[in-house]
Amino acid sequence: MSVDAQKIEKLVRKILEEMEEKKKPAETECEWGIFDHMNQAIEAAEIAQKELVQLSLGQRGKLIEAIRKAAKENAEKFARMAVDETGMGKYEDKIVKNLLAAEKTPGIEDLRTEVFSGDDGLTLVELSPYGVIGAITPTTNPTETIICNSIGMIAAGNAVVFSPHPRAKNTSLYAIKIFNQAIVEAGGPKNLITTVANPSIEQAEIMMKHKTIKMLVATGGPGVVKAVLSSGKKAIGAGAGNPPVVVDETADIEKAAKDIIAGCSFDNNLPCVAEKEVIAVESIADRLIDYMKKHGAYEITNKEQIQQLTDLVVENGHANKEFVGKDAAYILKHIGINVPPDIRVAIMEVDGKHPLVTVELMMPILPIVRVKNVDQAIELAVEVEHGFRHTAIMHSKNVDHLTKFAKAIQTTIFVKNAPSYAGIGVGGEGYATFTIAGPTGEGLTSAKDFARKRKCVLVDALSIR
Ligand code: NAD
Repeated sequence: MSVDAQKIEKLVRKILEEMEEKKKPAETECEWGIFDHMNQAIEAAEIAQKELVQLSLGQRGKLIEAIRKAAKENAEKFARMAVDETGMGKYEDKIVKNLLAAEKTPGIEDLRTEVFSGDDGLTLVELSPYGVIGAITPTTNPTETIICNSIGMIAAGNAVVFSPHPRAKNTSLYAIKIFNQAIVEAGGPKNLITTVANPSIEQAEIMMKHKTIKMLVATGGPGVVKAVLSSGKKAIGAGAGNPPVVVDETADIEKAAKDIIAGCSFDNNLPCVAEKEVIAVESIADRLIDYMKKHGAYEITNKEQIQQLTDLVVENGHANKEFVGKDAAYILKHIGINVPPDIRVAIMEVDGKHPLVTVELMMPILPIVRVKNVDQAIELAVEVEHGFRHTAIMHSKNVDHLTKFAKAIQTTIFVKNAPSYAGIGVGGEGYATFTIAGPTGEGLTSAKDFARKRKCVLVDALSIR
């Protein structure tokens, strides 16, 4: 072989190797849906979605069942990983949340067809997939949101590319891997759920701009909701809340106190629906506080200590992330108060403009504001909810008061005489979701919200009336 021929052969081999290398990402087994680059994750999900829609609805239902089963089997592991990785929340409560998402998130039964029939024939309005959905998930409910979004989005015929919170990376990636395995074992396509090995805001931005992504769903704070709504794509924004609890003079005061402490301390206040401030009419406020103490609250009465706590947990008008989702005893220790571990919530009386009231803290710290009557309570509750229209809770036996508050506050979830978590299906009727879309109005999102309405018209036939 001449020198030139050798050179050409070497060059060809190099080009072939490079081509092989380029082909790899889309084809590699990439650890069950986890890719190095966002573009690869999206391309693989696109291929998977095309395979998914070739399956029957019955087969699609089997994939949903497989995700539910895998989520239930791993509920404890997911909870342990999330607490260890994020340093937030409570193991036992996270198990409850994972099981809730696995069992009560609607599947394909959520896709209901509308029918019109008459002299001109038969028309169907059916719910069809968007294609590939980009879903951004929070650190507060990492696996719960992935379970809930995967079930709803796949039930509607989509593939989903996740952009998890970097602080919940390992937990989120593990859940994605487990669900992909379950889907493939149940006869579904590989890479129906994908993500990147190192999630970041930069990777999320690539996802938000990618032409293959037809819908974006953000579950998180105001920043990410604004980002998806500015993307120019169809978007669902499930944003922040600051749920107020109103207690009036007609309530069962001990039950109200017990329910409020239970809701506020659930997963150390991480759920966006959890009680964040109490507004109580003055005639029952003392009794309410006494009962709260009986049911696991520690009251701070010293004004200096309340200020110290405020300086500790509120940072530039936002919650100090170091204390989000921590135990009450841990937080109190930082201001020199030692309480036994069975103290679940710290309570304190403040005025309605206090930062502990107005800032969404996501900690078991519960300020109480005393007001003259129920009208003042409702007015203040509407103000401190900031128009998020997320969640509100009321303890009252007066139907007119309940109706007045519900009408005034216009929240997506309104819980009467129960802990806030009844609103997401723990001890309350109705289906579960961990993506509560107040700003964009879908409310408690499920498969029907991840689908497009399409009309199919057959003229002059099949109306048999
Ligand atoms: P976060 O806003 O810090 O992060 C949420 C996700 O958005 C993460 O994956 C993060 O990486 C990403 N992100 C943030 N800014 C972004 C941007 N500009 N572009 C692209 N991606 C971006 O929220 P968190 O601390 O993980 O979660 C707590 C917040 O989420 C609270 O405000 C809570 O009320 C809210 N939340 C709402 C719901 C709901 O259903 N409405 C559910 C859970 C949490």
